[in-house]
Amino acid sequence: MRYTGSNLCKIHFNQFVEKRVKKEIREQLKRTGRPIVISVAISGGKDSSVTLYLLNKIFGKDAKIKLFPFTVDEGISGYRDSGLARARELCNDLGLEHHVISFSDNYGKRLDEIVREDIRNTIPCSHCGPMRRNLMNKISRLNFSDYVALGINLDDYAQSILMNVVKGDIKRLARMAPHDFVRETLVPRILPLRKIPENEVMLYAVLNGIKFDSGWCPFYGRAQRNRFRQIIADLEEETPGTRHALVKFHDELKPILSDSVKHEELGKCFICGSPTSNKICAVCNDLSEMNYA
Ligand code: SF4
Ligand code: ZN
Repeated sequence: MRYTGSNLCKIHFNQFVEKRVKKEIREQLKRTGRPIVISVAISGGKDSSVTLYLLNKIFGKDAKIKLFPFTVDEGISGYRDSGLARARELCNDLGLEHHVISFSDNYGKRLDEIVREDIRNTIPCSHCGPMRRNLMNKISRLNFSDYVALGINLDDYAQSILMNVVKGDIKRLARMAPHDFVRETLVPRILPLRKIPENEVMLYAVLNGIKFDSGWCPFYGRAQRNRFRQIIADLEEETPGTRHALVKFHDELKPILSDSVKHEELGKCFICGSPTSNKICAVCNDLSEMNYA
């Protein structure tokens, strides 16, 4: 580990990962003594699989915590099916029931179709991201979840911070998960892996025999995030510790920024009832534009 200057054996590596994840969970999860439901979004990939595995390892015997793993099926041919199979397999191994929520059931179309019919040729992730987040929130609310856990690793998290800084999007920086607020329509997101680098998540999965799907979404090449992925990787290579520094910067800035969104009204979308600060949410807006086109 270049950023700590240490070399660890398997046992100490596992302990090092688990210790940091437990600390994050302690800080992100408010325990009040009453039972808690945590929805866990799993794609079948390494990050979300390790998230579920660790949450189950930490809370599996805790009678006051119920895990609810689910997968959003966007409808991406040649990609999502293998992820779904892995997700199902992992839940089976851990003795947890797996749930699925799909674009086609909820929006009437698979992402493949949405992309094919989009005459504006918008980046697929611009449709997929808000739609996926919407369904994650929907299934978590239907299940009365107190939290929804996402498998965001340190590299992803540092990329998101930098992307929002570059866009000058203060509100989005302030709203980034982990969420410490309670809003009627939005289930707070927690990110147990946000301090674990991507290569350590991968190593943890391999060392512990966690099955995951290593396929890539066919639309990934068009994601704007790719550019930031490379920038963060280059910065980390030149100066080990850059990713951690970005997260520290954001953690210190967030309480100051949160004043800008604390009193913001988070209303309900007129059409679907999802949380939004506008009259109509981004997903309904997107769907109505597509139907119009
Ligand atoms: Fe969706 Fe883009 Fe992720 Fe593919 S890469 S699953 S299109 S957000
Ligand atoms: Zn809506």
